[in-house]
Amino acid sequence: MEREVQKFINQVRSYLKDYGFSLSLEPVDFILTNNIPVSGYFSENESTIKIATNKPLIQWLAILVHEYGHFLQFIEQAPEYRQIKNGNENYLDLFDLWLNHKIELSDSKKQEVFSSIFNLERDCELRALSLITEYNLPLNTEEYTQKANSYLQTYNQVYNNRIWPENNQMAYNQPQVYLLMPKNELLKELQYVVS
Ligand SMILES: [Zn+2]
Repeated sequence: MEREVQKFINQVRSYLKDYGFSLSLEPVDFILTNNIPVSGYFSENESTIKIATNKPLIQWLAILVHEYGHFLQFIEQAPEYRQIKNGNENYLDLFDLWLNHKIELSDSKKQEVFSSIFNLERDCELRALSLITEYNLPLNTEEYTQKANSYLQTYNQVYNNRIWPENNQMAYNQPQVYLLMPKNELLKELQYVVS
């Protein structure tokens, strides 16, 4: 493993530990969270970052950088992180419930939920890009930006068809999709384009 990557991972582990969190790199294809297979996740409740590493380093490293971005949002209590909770409501929970057809949302509520998650994810991607530069990680920032944009765009798609894509269908795993995305800046907002 490249020295920069090892240094970054050591730093992540040590900073997580300072807050009673742990990093778990698991040599599997995917990890289950809420019964959904994912490439990795950050959980405030479980005090952990878990990453599935049975894939090329640059793929799982990109996921780690992203999930670590969520940890930093949490530690700093960034506005984008705090706005996920509105009184008793948690927009991420509402999103899951809506996606699983457990609840219905009015159009205005749905837009509120989606833009709040979009802002959370966009801020996380900005942090990820800074980390890539700061730690000199072997990830191309233009390609990362394209993948991040295709990920942000996924929320537009989900807004319309209410289906979370399977991992191999995620736009950031499909060069024919993400290579069409802007590479110098992140999308600023969801368009709610009906596709
Ligand atoms: Zn995220």
